[in-house]
Order: sequence, then structure tokens, then C-alpha cells
Amino acid sequence: MSRHIALVPAAGSGSRIGSAVPKQYLPLAGRPLLAHTLAALLVHPAIDAVAVVISPEDEWFDRYVWPLERLAVLRCGGASRAESVASGLVQLALDDDDWVLVHDAARVGISQAALTRLIATLASDPVGGLLALPVPDTVKRGDADGRVADTLPRAGLWLAQTPQMFRAGLLKQALAAAPLAEITDEASAIERLGLSPRLVEGEAGNFKVTYPQDLSLAEALLSARAG
Ligand code: C5P
Repeated sequence: MSRHIALVPAAGSGSRIGSAVPKQYLPLAGRPLLAHTLAALLVHPAIDAVAVVISPEDEWFDRYVWPLERLAVLRCGGASRAESVASGLVQLALDDDDWVLVHDAARVGISQAALTRLIATLASDPVGGLLALPVPDTVKRGDADGRVADTLPRAGLWLAQTPQMFRAGLLKQALAAAPLAEITDEASAIERLGLSPRLVEGEAGNFKVTYPQDLSLAEALLSARAG
């Protein structure tokens, strides 16, 4: 039986959120943001282990209490998200057939139902895939003056979420071949091998906390679930 391992890159600085505290450690409902994300993964019955990749210079992680008996902490984050994922994969003793679920630290709203749907849908998939949402809005391309340059047809467009779930062997091969500074998700590295990852329906609640106003939205979501 191949295992399901969650890998959480959390070595970013979160510059778009404009805070001195790195995004993954911002307080959310009394805990650092990262704690909510890890808890959602740790509690899922089909996930065998969870690993988090932090920066070697991280001065925040050790200030908090973590469920370390169930969590691997890899202090090998790199200059880009893809580098953090690639170096995390090297540190873990994985079989090529093991499934790796790469999940953004900043997607605190990942639900148990979405994880179950992803894992079940991809169980016998030859490539793997990702949670994603069909684009709900009309999509505009802006010009340098902040005016509409053109309107893009939205049919067939999806917003990529995470987890992105691939076999460890294939993912390592894809990342080894990809220009890591340009890769913003694992699926695009797989696509560069000529393969087509499966799109599995995600959820609006699985958004990535990116801007300051996203924090209160995430807090409302978590407290609605807890209540
Ligand atoms: O900045 P953004 O939110 O797009 O980052 C996505 C994820 O990748 C975050 O969980 C972030 O911590 C992680 N990351 C990383 N190493 C980097 C840059 C980002 O692990 N060098």
C-alpha cells in the first residue's frame, strides 16, 4: 500500500500581506496560521504523515508548541516555493509510489471533505492532480495604466488550489527537470513532462490567505466551522 504524505512548504516571507511577522505565523483565532493548516492535515484519517518545510533562518517556529510526535520539521526551505518543496522531498524517505500532497501553509480553510475527494478521485490515477475551482468571474487583463486591455474567455479556466497530489517519484523527476524559480505550483512541473494532471473540484473556503483582509475572512470561516 502506498502512503499519503502531506508536505507543507512554509518558508515564504508573505510579502504581500505587509506584516513584520511572516504570514504563516500571523495569529488567527489564537494560534499561528500554520497551526490551523497542519491540524487539518494531521487529523485526516487517510494522511499517514505530515512534514512542514521551514526556512533554515526561521526564528518563529520554535516559539510555539507543535504536535511534534506526528510532524516532521524540515529546516531546508529555499528561495522559491518549488525549491522548498524539492528540498523537502529529498529529506523525506519516500517510496516512488507514495503519494505526496503538497499544501500551501496559507490555505487554512482546507476541509476534510475536500481532502477526501482529492484522495479518492486520484486513487488509481496514472498522473495525479490538484484541487481547483472553475473561474467564477469574468477575467480581464489590465494594462500599465490600470485600464482594461482585454477580456479573456473564461470557459475552461480553473484557479489552481492545493493540495496538489502526485506520486513522490514522478514529482521528484518533474521538479528536477523544471526551472524552479519560475514554477508556482507542482502541477506545472508535471505538465512540463507532457502529462495532464486531473482537476478535482476544490472549494471557495480553501482560499490562500494573501492580503491583510483575508485574515478576518479566514477567522470567520474557522469560527463558523468550530461552532
Ligand atoms: O507566497 P505564496 O503564498 O504564494 O506561497 C505559497 C506557499 O509556498 C506558502 O505556504 C509559502 O510559505 C511557501 N513558500 C516556501 N518557500 C518560499 C516561498 C514560498 O515554502 N521560498
